[in-house]
Amino acid sequence: MKSIIGHAAIVDQLLSSLAGESPPSALMLAGDESLGKYTLALTYAGAWLCLSNVKPCYECESCAKLFGTGETPLPRNLQFALTDGPTNHPDVLIVAPSPDQIKIEQTRNARQWASFHAVMGRGRFIIIKRAQMMNLSAANALLKTLEEPPPGYTFLLTADSTDGMLPTILSRCRIIRLGPLTANEIANGLTALIGTDPERAMRLGSLARGRVGRAIRWAISDESPSLSAMEELDQIVMEGLSGRPIGALLRAERFRAACAGFEAETGGSRQAIARGFEFVAERLRDALEERLIEGRHEGADRLKRLIAEAMAAKAAALGNANAQISSERLFVEMALAR
Ligand SMILES: [Zn+2]
Repeated sequence: MKSIIGHAAIVDQLLSSLAGESPPSALMLAGDESLGKYTLALTYAGAWLCLSNVKPCYECESCAKLFGTGETPLPRNLQFALTDGPTNHPDVLIVAPSPDQIKIEQTRNARQWASFHAVMGRGRFIIIKRAQMMNLSAANALLKTLEEPPPGYTFLLTADSTDGMLPTILSRCRIIRLGPLTANEIANGLTALIGTDPERAMRLGSLARGRVGRAIRWAISDESPSLSAMEELDQIVMEGLSGRPIGALLRAERFRAACAGFEAETGGSRQAIARGFEFVAERLRDALEERLIEGRHEGADRLKRLIAEAMAAKAAALGNANAQISSERLFVEMALAR
């Protein structure tokens, strides 16, 4: 499968299934956001449906219908995943939360869609994006279809987390878990597929904390001042979480100075400060997730409170609040929250 960054073992596993008669009837790609689950699902469906020998070729009629045609700055599968492109493929249905829930109408509609034969021949795919956002009735409706999968149909689910999903759905799916990529994997991928300068690719790879989707978005935004700003904020948050309270005001000052690097990208100083708070919230979420994965639950509530504080500061910044006061409050609390 061309144009996938990292996840080599999983790609091998999926590739070997391509040699079989038909794809598994239900596959779930699970793992944190921005690890490339949706891209993998799309590319896998594209590979099955591709009419050429190199699968997916991104050129045949099937690939053109699935991924679109014309020049794109990114390889087609990445472009499609990043822009949430609608597909014109008659044998692929994409179900996604709109905006924060997948509702019963959507899974019922999928069920109805699954009563027709493939148009182009090689089977049909129903991709359910962020399946953890199915509400209970939607999940139950899907379950009925999964219990008696129509022949020739494959359900590809992606989920940021399997917590809270119906065990009966999970047990019907072959579950593939994705982990974070290494900085090197991301950097090599950015250079090979997008042509990112290797030094910049390595900086983005380190900053992305294994989340390849973020690195791609940063790589194509091409804002070098933002990259330096993100690196500085990353540093400040790491120090903030481990440093002494006495440095908190200085860190708040460095935070405001670093945010100036977002001005070109965001188009204003208030927006730049808001972007900075958003980035800090994201880093705190990463720190929280890392802790939970390692089974360290102490301090989790404090981190959650800090995340809420950072998001509130972001909203306040857009509403013209005093950036000095809100940044000082955040970094003082961060220092106290150790
Ligand atoms: Zn093709």
